[in-house]
Amino acid sequence: MTNPVPAFWQEAPVAEPQEADRLAALDQLDLLDTPRDGSFDRIVRLIQNIFNVPTGLVSLMDGHRQWHLACSSGMDGEAERKDTFCQYPVVTGRSLVVRDATQDPVFALNPHVLAENGIRFYAGVPLKTHEGHTIGTVCAVGTEPREFDARELQILTDLADMTMGEIELRQQAATDVLTGLLSRREFKDRATHAVMLGLRHKYPVSCAVIDVDHFKLVNDTHGHAIGDKVLHQIAGACQNELRSTDILGRLGGEEFAAILPHTTLAQAVDVAEKLRKAVKRIQVQSENVIIKVTASIGIAALGTEAGDLDTLLAEADKALYEAKDQGRDRCISARTAVMAGRRRRVLKGGRIVFNNRFSAIDCTIRSLGDEGAGIDVWNAHDIPEKFTLVIAPENVERQCLVASRAEKHLEVQFC
Ligand code: GH3
Ligand code: MG
Ligand code: MG
Repeated sequence: MTNPVPAFWQEAPVAEPQEADRLAALDQLDLLDTPRDGSFDRIVRLIQNIFNVPTGLVSLMDGHRQWHLACSSGMDGEAERKDTFCQYPVVTGRSLVVRDATQDPVFALNPHVLAENGIRFYAGVPLKTHEGHTIGTVCAVGTEPREFDARELQILTDLADMTMGEIELRQQAATDVLTGLLSRREFKDRATHAVMLGLRHKYPVSCAVIDVDHFKLVNDTHGHAIGDKVLHQIAGACQNELRSTDILGRLGGEEFAAILPHTTLAQAVDVAEKLRKAVKRIQVQSENVIIKVTASIGIAALGTEAGDLDTLLAEADKALYEAKDQGRDRCISARTAVMAGRRRRVLKGGRIVFNNRFSAIDCTIRSLGDEGAGIDVWNAHDIPEKFTLVIAPENVERQCLVASRAEKHLEVQFC
């Protein structure tokens, strides 16, 4: 068993190139920003109940933020990395127990401790891949001081091992156990191939991303076992509506995607309508009630000149969120064809430097090309129009001009 880091330990200095390898390992797992998932929800509920704490958490550590794969309380889905407790186990690769954060020299002034109803107790175990990269943590978090003995730390360590086991099993599986559809990994492999063929032979390829509406309510009202049954039926109903050459997979949680080769955007909208209606027809019996669900669907099509699977999925996802916004139970298509630039998709740590090098902000570089980059930050409004981007681990510097700005994302041109 690993020993807890002593409470007086002060710093979590990020060491390159370990951090770059760590981010590369995380990138390969393709878990960031995936839909919430029943299996990981069960693990955080176990943490909450075994240790009698308000929050059980499985977190993944990105370059600039901590993203929650599962969280048992109402905590936000992500937090800025620099203020997190989890950065310590991630950087050291060792478990951390803080019994009373107000009495701890490292954490007493942490904003999450100073906040109303702030953190007092924290126990976090690193989530390690087979190669030894720490991608995140499994932790128990409380608002009251608490002891945590060696037996309890061992239980949390076992839960972290189970979580990692589940993650690695999914990486290997071609079939999703619950629905019988393609797993996320297998879907992406086959879909990438289908997109490549479409581009090479110049035929249309479309994509539909399907998300069940208010599915949390189904679980909360009727239980997870019934929720699982509903997901299984949705998978079957969608498969029945598609051609054998279409590719249908479970992206995660209650989200599915279909790649439709030889199908234009307009034709794909018709297919999506058939899928939407098929989901709506499903009836699952639970005790004395019949459960019915609806789904929202976003549709996108590949441009004829360029494009890639990730951009195609991202565009369909954008359209899906519009469908949710407009009231759910509907299909919405992306407005323009997907044309990717000459950028590579990456997951690299970086630093935005400005104010005569007096100010620096951590960021995660998501796409990178000769002319520019796509960068995720905690708050894009804090960043000036012009700055220097330091790309880790090579320490390459590029002068940047902001081309567009969303709440947490910047598109920049190199100058
Ligand atoms: P929205 O209409 O905005 O999509 O609402 P929603 O409730 O569907 O979305 P949200 O992302 O809040 O909740 C998704 C739920 O799906 C939460 C999660 O527990 C549940 N879920 C994910 N995977 C599984 C699973 O394998 N089995 C079951 N039963 N539920 C799952
Ligand atoms: Mg969802
Ligand atoms: Mg949903």
